[in-house]
Amino acid sequence: MNKTDFSTLALSKEMLHNLSEIGYKEMTPIQAQSLPFILEGRDVIAQAKTGSGKTAAFGIGVLHKLQVKKFRVQTLILCPTRELADQVAKELRMLARFAHNVKILTLCGGSAFGPQLGSLHHGAHIVVGTPGRILKHLKKETLSLEDMQMLVLDEADRMLDMGFSEEINEVLAFTPKDKQTLLFSATYTDEIMDISAKIQKDAMNIKTISTEIANSITERFYEVQNSQKISTLINILSNFKPENVIVFANTKAEVVEIAQTLQKNKIDALAIHGDLEQYERNDVLVQFANKSCPVLVATDVAARGLDIKELSMVVNYDLPHSQEIYTHRIGRTARAGEEGLAFTLISPYEVDKADEYKNETRLFEDAKELKEMVGFEMKPAYVTLVIEGGKKDKVRAGDILGALTGEAGLEGSFIGKIDIYDKQSYVAVASSKVDEAHEKLKNGKIKGKKFSIWIL
Ligand code: ADP
Ligand code: MG
Repeated sequence: MNKTDFSTLALSKEMLHNLSEIGYKEMTPIQAQSLPFILEGRDVIAQAKTGSGKTAAFGIGVLHKLQVKKFRVQTLILCPTRELADQVAKELRMLARFAHNVKILTLCGGSAFGPQLGSLHHGAHIVVGTPGRILKHLKKETLSLEDMQMLVLDEADRMLDMGFSEEINEVLAFTPKDKQTLLFSATYTDEIMDISAKIQKDAMNIKTISTEIANSITERFYEVQNSQKISTLINILSNFKPENVIVFANTKAEVVEIAQTLQKNKIDALAIHGDLEQYERNDVLVQFANKSCPVLVATDVAARGLDIKELSMVVNYDLPHSQEIYTHRIGRTARAGEEGLAFTLISPYEVDKADEYKNETRLFEDAKELKEMVGFEMKPAYVTLVIEGGKKDKVRAGDILGALTGEAGLEGSFIGKIDIYDKQSYVAVASSKVDEAHEKLKNGKIKGKKFSIWIL
């Protein structure tokens, strides 16, 4: 018997039969690694790529534990969007075909509240939903989690990205202490590890994409005349096409000039340095982090506190003042097991100092090897909308998401990161949909109130 056979697991005959009926011949890696622990009742935190079969990993665990005769909500599954909740519910229904009468209910924002009350009244075994709407039902006591045994956070990183951490915490307060908690995430950030530490007990950590291997960063150095630096930078961007990049420079004047020149060359760039007002700084950092601007030009101090999960490239426009700063800068790329690129430009007068940087793994190359690409552009995937309402106005991520996907009728997949601050909120919307989203939000309401809304 193969280790990836579902029959190695202590599953019922009916469940095994159904799995083969639906064409699941063997376990995917995430299923093979996590299911033994999930079935044992352990808390599990698991990282795996999209499409790796995470839904069945927790779905089989949920159904295995379910007591169908006990008509109570025994499992709560939190998802970032309605589309994802629908997909999870669909997969669960398919996995549950062998058992009669398993009731699975989805409760998401963007759907009318009233009909959900009716469904809840009829009862359910498993509830799948988005944090905001689940919280609303809990507060109105239209949903009780008294008998809940299992909590699943699916795509936890995306939920945090969308600003749901507060809602998740509040939902947790309604759940029994004694329960099994499964957390799935495509990336492991500090935030994810924090939430796991807070809500899980002795969680088994499963990774199918290894992040423990040392970050692999390719480090390239080019010696160039000062007058050639900008064109070299543009060539680096056009040859290596990073998704996002931080360009470090040593002075404020340089940072501003580089960003302006890049913009003139159809490369969308923002500058950040010590002289910006707090709100300007925030606008810039938010846009870079939520993919509304692919290039950030920064001084070291200004880049502090920037939390980017996946940074594909770092460029040192000048040699950093010390190797320590160098290591710190380039360490921002290649997080989460991705490959990272680090480039450093060396001015003629820095050549001696650059010798200190030489070792076997660093590549010192000729900038002439970079091809000149005509017509290269770098445009962002998203555009940021600012809403003049935040925590103080009790605006939550779920309200914004609800306003966009509900009345405005936008699909959740077009909406990116949502950041809520005290008096303002930012939402990243796919570039092609931003005008439509702006128009609809402007004419509609969020939480029953009108807010000023503009495009950054
Ligand atoms: P993830 O949540 O990890 O992104 P999904 O759970 O949505 O991935 O699964 C991706 C696809 O793989 C789905 O179509 C699902 O039906 C299918 N799938 C899951 N497990 C198996 C399996 N063991 N064998 C074959 N297909 C599977
Ligand atoms: Mg999934």
